[in-house]
Amino acid sequence: MFRNKKILVTGGGGFIGSHLSKVLLNNGNFVRVADIKWDDYMKEKYYSEKMTADLREKKNCIKATKGMDFVFNLAANMGGIGFIEEVAAEVMHDNVLINTHMLQSCVENKIKRMFYSSSACIYPTYKQTKSSIVPLKEEHAYPADPDNFYGWEKLFVEKECEAYQRDYGLCVRVARFHNIYGPEGTYKGGREKSPAAICRKVAFAKNPGTINIWGDGKQTRSYCYIDDCVRGIIMLMESKYEKPINIGSDRGISINDMVDIVAGFENKKLKRTHDLSAAQGVRGRNADLTLVKKVLGWKPEIRLEDGLRNVYFWIKKMEGLR
Ligand code: NAD
Repeated sequence: MFRNKKILVTGGGGFIGSHLSKVLLNNGNFVRVADIKWDDYMKEKYYSEKMTADLREKKNCIKATKGMDFVFNLAANMGGIGFIEEVAAEVMHDNVLINTHMLQSCVENKIKRMFYSSSACIYPTYKQTKSSIVPLKEEHAYPADPDNFYGWEKLFVEKECEAYQRDYGLCVRVARFHNIYGPEGTYKGGREKSPAAICRKVAFAKNPGTINIWGDGKQTRSYCYIDDCVRGIIMLMESKYEKPINIGSDRGISINDMVDIVAGFENKKLKRTHDLSAAQGVRGRNADLTLVKKVLGWKPEIRLEDGLRNVYFWIKKMEGLR
């Protein structure tokens, strides 16, 4: 499906958006990327046209979607757990505006299909109270009780997508991402997520040395490498499946075990200190992939050890560390 098409990627200056754009461009599409800012972590050319725009404004959404066949809507004001637990009103305000105007603009500009990036943060807190939790299935989303405002906003927009499909016939695909990680993503500044933060801390630590971990380190998550994620996004967009679906990994791991993996890349002997007052999010989270395997025939293929190695040595290169 995605060859010689005109495609808009919003949030195209961000982590997932830039990787997705690169694959779409290499497949022979015209790729317009729209973003409010550019990190420029990706050095190779990954777009055909670059549009700097604040997508909280409807006129910019209309301009960005004009003349496009397909839209991948990834723009969001977001960050890791430290950021999304700290910032509530701005996250809800900005993201509701971006997504509402994008949905409306897709209808007005007769976009053939829109992708929306939801999150594992929509799942209810009561299903995630232990480190060893039951992996989350799509049907577990309700009764709703997301952990933070970012999760509530994602859940609201999932419903907004459903409303636009029902009333206006807009074709929408929705993925619930579970901790996507990889190189060329935010790794410092306060918006980074745990894999990048841990890789950065270990990279800067002396050997032997000490690193500080948020929480007791026994909290669990699962992590999906960017290349697997991009493959899943494209497969979902090409499919007939119309409801929200998990894209993630079902290998749950504690933060402490992830630190062991990263420290092992250069055999660093690290003493850990734990900041028990830092943001930690839910106690445990893992993805159930039964549905996505059945519907798309997709599953993650890249081992966490291999993916983290890429992130670790990319950060070292970015920081000029030997
Ligand atoms: P990212 O922060 O790297 O990318 C998001 C991009 O949106 C940024 O480049 C940012 O500048 C842009 N943006 C923010 N406000 C904007 C505005 N007003 N106008 C235009 N652009 C704006 O994040 P990411 O990790 O690439 O995430 C992409 C999408 O996937 C987001 O919707 C995010 O909520 C969702 N998601 C990501 C993860 C993950 O693990 N990375 C997990 C769940 C969901």
